[in-house]
Amino acid sequence: MTKDKVIIFDTTLRDGEQAPGATMNLEEKLLIAKTLEKMGVDVIEAGFPAASNGDFEAVNRIARTIKNSVVCGLARAKKSDIERTAESVNPSTKPRIHTFLATSPIHMQYKLKMDELQVLSAITDSVSLARSLCPEVDWSPEDATRSKRDFLFKAIETAIKAGANTINIPDTVGYTTPEEYYDLISQIRNNVSNIDKAIISSHCHNDLGMAVANSLAAMRAGARQVECTINGIGERAGNAALEEIVMAIKTRGDFYNVETSIDTTMISRISKLVSSITGFAVQYNKAIVGANAFAHESGIHQDGVLKNRETYEIMTPESVGLEKSSLVLGKLSGRAAFKDRLKEIGYELSEEMLNESFKKFKELADKKKEILDEDIVALVDDSITNTQSRYQLMSLNVKCGTFDNAEVELKIKIDNDEHFTSFCSKDGPVDAIFNAIKSLIAHNATLELYQVHAVTEGTDAQATATVRLKQNNRIFSANGSNTDVLVASALAYINCLDKIKS
Ligand SMILES: [Zn+2]
Repeated sequence: MTKDKVIIFDTTLRDGEQAPGATMNLEEKLLIAKTLEKMGVDVIEAGFPAASNGDFEAVNRIARTIKNSVVCGLARAKKSDIERTAESVNPSTKPRIHTFLATSPIHMQYKLKMDELQVLSAITDSVSLARSLCPEVDWSPEDATRSKRDFLFKAIETAIKAGANTINIPDTVGYTTPEEYYDLISQIRNNVSNIDKAIISSHCHNDLGMAVANSLAAMRAGARQVECTINGIGERAGNAALEEIVMAIKTRGDFYNVETSIDTTMISRISKLVSSITGFAVQYNKAIVGANAFAHESGIHQDGVLKNRETYEIMTPESVGLEKSSLVLGKLSGRAAFKDRLKEIGYELSEEMLNESFKKFKELADKKKEILDEDIVALVDDSITNTQSRYQLMSLNVKCGTFDNAEVELKIKIDNDEHFTSFCSKDGPVDAIFNAIKSLIAHNATLELYQVHAVTEGTDAQATATVRLKQNNRIFSANGSNTDVLVASALAYINCLDKIKS
């Protein structure tokens, strides 16, 4: 029997980016989009083109670059939004517009100030306009799970009549439960007369920790598209995690009886990429992609796994692309070997970025004997942030220890001019570095988070520092990597200021 295919709709670049602090620049978005395409994601929601020129540019670049996945842009039910979104996605070989309008009483009354008839007519207008500009239209009744059922059915029917090919049912506030959501999808299938002309989709938030369970329940009820994000990032508690849904479908194919076109061996790679770009660490015990997800610690478990892996392992680390970190490159490795290894990990870089990364690789190989995949990932991600940066750290000298004050001397290039300063702090070297940078790049952002973690094992390992700054209620985060934790910290702080200033 052939299995039904479930369409994987990734919204890391749209809903995921809406998470406070997850702002990404254009190069970063493009790299994530290319990796999503490579892993077989069917639809990439690339952004919200009407939100700003930067968003428009990013969606447009992705639409021009990606060939195998559908490229989708989000639009409110407004003529100007829909036209701008069409303009942005239409260079794609497979463009899609995703438009939405709230259908719950509370949203209609307080947010939209519209009655039912007005909402229905706005649906007809917005969806038919979108469909006249783009072959694929996805329509969402916002806050569907808190909408009155009869009105929701009518709204969906109206959207399909106006040309929507996909009907997405968002649990916008993360309120539903698996049983209730299953019921809702079943009722939509039974009560909307023209539902056979559209694909039903789920979009679940994780406020009660049920986003993945709800998505799978929708699928059991007949939904054939799942909206999700890498590592489950997104507004508030996040969205349904792509890796969990895909591995549930794969591991429990006997139960779900559906399939996806995802190459699951890319999961670990993209999880690390998204975590490193957004600065959102993945919790150790996170399903599928957490550092401990495949670690067997207890003696009984270890013994069992050694005798037969299936005793305690329901899926293999290899199936999500986790191979034992192998010794890959060293000081004598040339550019070709470096480029080859990048390709195997999943990077295809522009010539400029390749040069920048190779330079950093050589510098690192001078300090560290064994260069592992994780090291390469950290230094390439650093280059991506760096090639666009206005600021460059030229030198950093630090004197610190058990005496009173930490002293730093620092040189930064700002738009091609070199600036030098020194700073003393009794609160240690990191405080001195951040204050020295602040004296050269003036800002009024406050530090929300500073953390450091080792990229690989060993005392010669690279460190990745994450800095999160808050300015005017917006949160920005950035990383910096180096074998020296203080240099990594300075880089992270400078990269974050660059994000704020651009
Ligand atoms: Zn959402």
